[in-house]
Amino acid sequence: MVALLAICGLFGLNQAAENASADIININFVGGSDMDGRYAPIALMAGQWWNDQIAGWNRNLPGPVLDRLKKIDVDVIVQNIDGVGGILGGANATDFLTYRGPSKYGQTIVLSQGGEFTGDAEDFEVMSNLDILAVMVHEIGHVIGYVIPEIAEPMALTDPDIDNGSPGIVSPRALAAYREATNNPFATFATLEKLGGGGTAGVHPDSLDPAYLDIPIPGTNRTSDDIMIGFFGGVNFFDEILLSKTMLEFAHDMGFVTWVSGELFFEPTGGDGRIGGRRRGRNGPKNPGPPPGGGFLRSQGGISSVPEPSSMVLIGIVGVCGLGLYRRRK
Ligand SMILES: [Zn+2]
Repeated sequence: MVALLAICGLFGLNQAAENASADIININFVGGSDMDGRYAPIALMAGQWWNDQIAGWNRNLPGPVLDRLKKIDVDVIVQNIDGVGGILGGANATDFLTYRGPSKYGQTIVLSQGGEFTGDAEDFEVMSNLDILAVMVHEIGHVIGYVIPEIAEPMALTDPDIDNGSPGIVSPRALAAYREATNNPFATFATLEKLGGGGTAGVHPDSLDPAYLDIPIPGTNRTSDDIMIGFFGGVNFFDEILLSKTMLEFAHDMGFVTWVSGELFFEPTGGDGRIGGRRRGRNGPKNPGPPPGGGFLRSQGGISSVPEPSSMVLIGIVGVCGLGLYRRRK
């Protein structure tokens, strides 16, 4: 109940923020189960979470790309996937802008222009609003490009076999951040997930790599794991939904500008975009189809953190989801 109230309060604030700025991500709630209208506002808030990280596209993208860019449309579906536990959601980008030619981003640029994510209705029914929000944030991350091969491979952001035959991130800014996070200036790649099979391995940050785990939350004595990790064990507070520095910098390698970076960005407004300023940040209906193929978020189970007094609901959820797939984080 506490978590639910917190979500409602934050949602009000974020709606105000949404009206105050043009956002790069559009959320469309297109179908499936919508228990008492519960999921649509959470999906909007998940989109807003990303809009609070990403300011727009980098104005150094080639002119023909900037001319054609539009906002990223994210279609949201909530329907049964595999019962309680197991897969919580799936997502993929399905609409791309591709450009070939010399540029500051190499010879080939592929940018997400939209996609869809499916949340598992049976999991959502027993999850808190805060956990659903976290799952939706994760899935929208895939739609904008984390770390899907359709974008990462042609842009050479990943090397498909650099990690003993598994993919790793080699893009410049993410790798620099990873070297800093691991205190290893000689790292040749940032790790990606090796577990979980197709749809999980290779498209998430490595759930066993400390670079993505136990990230200090500013202003608190708490930590949280990167939201793009492919296994989910629940969150207790809104600020536990966060990106590691490596994943935040990966956004830049994908052609975005984040609010944190203070770089000049390009803000598409539909047909004709406009160049945004240097701003400082804070630290049509479809029929629901089968879950998309790329990027599953699986329940983690076995979460070992000491429960907060307000997280009674979450404890129950973790217990249920934990039946799906038990993993140890560390
Ligand atoms: Zn995922």
